[in-house]
Parts: sequence; structure tokens; C-alpha cells
Amino acid sequence: MAAQSCLFLCLKDNFGVLVHDLETMATAAIDAPEADAVEAALKRTGWSLTDILVTHHHHDHTGGIEELKSRHHCRVVAPDAEAAGIPAVDETVREGDRVRVGSLEAHVIETPGHTAGHISYFLPADKLAFVGDTLFSIGCGRVIEGNAEMMWDSLLKLRALPDDTRIFCGHEYTLANIRFAKTIEPANALLSAREQEVARLIAENKPTIPSFMGEEKAANPFLRADVPEVARAVGLVGKPAWQVFAEIRERKNRF
Ligand SMILES: [Zn+2]
Repeated sequence: MAAQSCLFLCLKDNFGVLVHDLETMATAAIDAPEADAVEAALKRTGWSLTDILVTHHHHDHTGGIEELKSRHHCRVVAPDAEAAGIPAVDETVREGDRVRVGSLEAHVIETPGHTAGHISYFLPADKLAFVGDTLFSIGCGRVIEGNAEMMWDSLLKLRALPDDTRIFCGHEYTLANIRFAKTIEPANALLSAREQEVARLIAENKPTIPSFMGEEKAANPFLRADVPEVARAVGLVGKPAWQVFAEIRERKNRF
């Protein structure tokens, strides 16, 4: 049976999301930015929290874990490499591990770069991907603990997901990301189409995600560092894609 999801904004610009299994009534929070916002989403949906799946150790993704766990006695699943920095962890996972939430199954994809042990969760049956702060819509996370080559490799792993995968990311940064992306590919028609769609969603007070991987592949410059026109736009024709990626990331940091 298909997974249901409930997306909500919390803290300043974080996304929280619940994933619910209709068959067993199990419900996972992907990260726990703040307990109150997760509680409000549980109340709205009538779902009971059984699991928290953590993508990385940053406080704006883990700050609500202890409170939620003490109230719901839910299982906390976290990346093995970052478990020491995440509260109340019950189970650690690595590349290729499977995590069950009721009858739903998530595959663990290690996507280091933003943090050294960052992981993403992919539910192949429903084509849902929870990518934390690795990939944003039309953007990507800052490379804080890893390096550009590592982050590019992580983005390639996500780019290999099916085009009709729905991408849930950790922050509502889409509009600012589009403004930057236009400095790299001003003539990208699919980027312009995404800009119009995002303007409409924001005017309607709606979140700009999830997006589809196919859309990201066509318009997100951070997934397009191996496209010749993108290399040309940053003056790095013939250079390795990770170097093109590094240059785009540097420009975004200064934007
Ligand atoms: Zn982060």
C-alpha cells in the first residue's frame, strides 16, 4: 500500500515531514527539527509516531528527538558515522542498509559532504527520497565537513534515482536557489519553468517541494556540473565535473 506523507515548515526555514504506512499505521518523522511542530503534524493527521529517521547531526534536524522519544517511545535511527553526535539513538545504519517503517522499506544511501556521515533515505516502492541537507530544490547543501569531490559523488548517487522520484529536502531555499541558478544558466527553459511554478506556489503560501528528480536534473546547476554548457558558464571547459561543481558551490557561497 502506498506511503502517505505530511510536509510542514518549522523553525526558520526547515521542512519537517512525516511518512505514514496505512497498512500498519506506523509513522516516521524524517529528522526532528523541533518537537512542537512534529506534534502539531501528528495531531493534524491523527498518526502515532513510531520512528525517527535522522539524516545528519545538525541541531536543526535533531533538536526535537529527545522530547519526542520520551513522549512516544519511538525508535531513533541514525547514520552510524554520526551516532555519537545525535541524542537517543537506538539503531545505526550505513550504505545499503534497509530500514522498515511498518511495511514500508527505506534504503540507506550515504551522501557525505554537508556533514561527514550524512545519509539519505529512499523508498523505492513509493519513489520517495529524503535527502536532508545534501540536495535542495535547485540547490545543494553547503560543503561543511567534507570536500567538493565527496559532495559531487553524493549528488551523483542521488541523481541516479528514477526521474519520477519525489525529493524531500531539509530547507525551503528554492526561490533563492533559483535566483542563483539563473546566473549560471540564464537560458535554461526548464529553470524558467520551475521559477514560474515556484512563484505561484509561494504566492499560494504552499511549500515548493517535493520536486521530481527529473526536474532537478534538468534545472539544478549543482546536478549539472558535467554538462558542457555549465562548465563553459564558469570558465572550466574540459575540467573534471567535481571541479566545476566546486566552482559553482563557491560562487553560491559568495552570492
Ligand atoms: Zn545541516
